[in-house]
Amino acid sequence: MKLVFATHNLNKLQEVQQMLPTSIQLVSLTDIECFDDIEETEITLEGNAHLKANYVLQNFKHDCFADDTGLEVDILDGKPGVYSARYAGEPANSEKNMQKLLKALTGATNRKAQFRTAVALHLNGEKLIFEGICKGTILEQEQGEKGFGYDPIFMPEGFTKSFAEMSSEEKNKISHRGIAIQKLVDYLKDKFKS
Ligand code: IMP
Repeated sequence: MKLVFATHNLNKLQEVQQMLPTSIQLVSLTDIECFDDIEETEITLEGNAHLKANYVLQNFKHDCFADDTGLEVDILDGKPGVYSARYAGEPANSEKNMQKLLKALTGATNRKAQFRTAVALHLNGEKLIFEGICKGTILEQEQGEKGFGYDPIFMPEGFTKSFAEMSSEEKNKISHRGIAIQKLVDYLKDKFKS
């Protein structure tokens, strides 16, 4: 089965593709020649995920799933949350975002945070949401070179290294996106079992 994943981001596409059975073939926005800038104007992760999936369905007539992720920091009342990509302003810049967050947490003893992903699936007229959460802490400085976004300053619960020090396989098993996508995959497997 072919399904559009509403992204151009190669990191995300590879992360997700690795988790899918071969019977489910992912098609990117690039593959369907959707180069439109789908503006994420909603104020929740779920709202933005639905917005993107709906855009593809309406304009390209393909069943689709879309995700939106935010880093929710306890003592910042869940910020940067839905605004994580542009926390330090436009254009989005991961290094500046991390520096702004580290500064906001200077001296903080409670450094608890979680990544949360909402995946919206629009399939055969159904609209569903799958959620994945990965709890952890914000480190005092960057550690590791792998991954993207806030990975160098996020240490998942139960580990002594940052996301940026993990292989993508290791990260996929415990990550917010991995968990949400696994729920999506389980749903699709069940729905299309023969
Ligand atoms: P998106 O919805 O996946 O585009 O995520 C929004 C922003 O959250 C990204 O621009 C990154 O800054 C951050 N982010 C999302 N997922 C991750 C992750 O797995 N690790 C680190 N940062 C992430």
